[in-house]
Amino acid sequence: MVIPTQWSNYIDGQWVGSEQMLGVENPATGKQIATVALATVAQAERALQSARRCMAERSLIAMPPAQRAELLFRAAEEIRKVADAGAQVLYLENGKRLEDARDEFMEAARYFEYYAGMADKIEGVSIPLGDDYVNYTVYEPMGVSVQIVPWNFPVSLCARSLAPALAAGNACVVKSPELSPLGMCVLFEALERVGFPAGALHLLCGLGAEIGEYLVSHPQTDQIVFTGSVATGQRIQQAAAQHSTPCVMELGGKSAAIALADADIANLVDNVKAGIFFNSGQVCSALSRLLVHRSIYDETVAALQVLVQGLTIGDGGAEADITPVISAGQQAQINALCQAAVESGAQQIAGQDKSLPDHGFYVVPAIYAVQDNQLPIAQEEVFGPVLCIQAFDSMDEALRIANDSIYGLVAGVFGQDINQILYLTKRLQVGQVFVNEWFAGGIETPFGGVRLSGYGREKGQEGLYNYVQTKSITVKLRGG
Ligand code: NAD
Repeated sequence: MVIPTQWSNYIDGQWVGSEQMLGVENPATGKQIATVALATVAQAERALQSARRCMAERSLIAMPPAQRAELLFRAAEEIRKVADAGAQVLYLENGKRLEDARDEFMEAARYFEYYAGMADKIEGVSIPLGDDYVNYTVYEPMGVSVQIVPWNFPVSLCARSLAPALAAGNACVVKSPELSPLGMCVLFEALERVGFPAGALHLLCGLGAEIGEYLVSHPQTDQIVFTGSVATGQRIQQAAAQHSTPCVMELGGKSAAIALADADIANLVDNVKAGIFFNSGQVCSALSRLLVHRSIYDETVAALQVLVQGLTIGDGGAEADITPVISAGQQAQINALCQAAVESGAQQIAGQDKSLPDHGFYVVPAIYAVQDNQLPIAQEEVFGPVLCIQAFDSMDEALRIANDSIYGLVAGVFGQDINQILYLTKRLQVGQVFVNEWFAGGIETPFGGVRLSGYGREKGQEGLYNYVQTKSITVKLRGG
């Protein structure tokens, strides 16, 4: 499919260009497929001021919540209409499988539908204070919500924050990622047709260090929702501290699955395939560490070797198992971490004999056996199709290894004994635990991290409460 070669930003109800353009590459070929306008500081300021006006005019807040719900339902409809065309764009710029790109648009539509259903149910409480007072609480929007999106699932992650923010009545300024901005333009083209109030929605593609930094340091930004790496998240939190701007931080992970002695190995292998090889491992909640009870370790390793042997590597349009990673930089970083793994004593047990296409940013899917959890390959987020595997002898040893991480995004347990499973789920220091199915749950289940994986919960009903603040009103009555 031929896609437009020039893309713009959506500011104050218009698609606007820029003198500076940024090239977007197809990771499968390394060739430029389009250019996108790079937002200037003046354009970022214009977006923020327009969003401020939207809040000052109370256009989103004043409308009956059922009408806001209606807008979000319409958004879901419009997104579904562009899913096929949008998927082509996202697949070409991101390298992911075409089918997965389409799923992103469908998931984005689901977010709008889900939070449409909540828009008219954001209810406060009344707190009894005796006869002389009447109290009630209301949930008010945060105001101007700045949302910074990463490249790995740009369309669905954008919708994950945008839908609840709009449902709660916030005006949103969204920054797309430099490496994969075009799918979000298609998403915004669909949203434009919905007819949200003026100033409610803006999309800027800009450099993180320039436009991102400008937006998060701005005194008139009321909230920052950041999904991305720990290093950027920490920098943003420092900027946010200047104005005490509240943040939601959805950061990285190095998540462990624990396979108990009675785990179903065939199911485990299927879940490793989904957990670490889906999207070529470029998933914050990837299953990047596998801890296996020693009694089933050899059998598991043999089954995983067969799995890796059978993985196909190629273009996302051909629905290969392993598609290219996003950029040459990411490819180099993954390869460097794999090289360092071997030098530090990890043993590569799968992937050695796989060959890669001649062009494009491909990396070899690999498994490393490690005995020391302090090795960088067991501690650092690789963000590629690379698994670490370790044996354990007791549940407490598995727990100790799983929790021995600076991250705390997700963990998994595979096994049959409910007592052992629950023992572990209670003690794993993470935001969510998947039992017997990696990625179990959906947009309805809260998602977020502890430790350096961040704070705040997106998704589910709880996710909506990121986008409101409580106001308590207490009235002193004149005595009767
Ligand atoms: P990144 O931190 O490099 O970039 C994320 C976004 O931040 C981009 O839009 C970038 O332009 C912007 N940015 C960069 N510097 C900035 C600054 N100083 N101020 C404001 N914005 C700035 O992350 P990435 O490489 O795009 O994404 C991969 C990371 O995201 C991984 O660590 C992954 O685990 C994490 N992630 C987390 C979740 C989650 O829900 N927890 C989901 C997806 C990805």
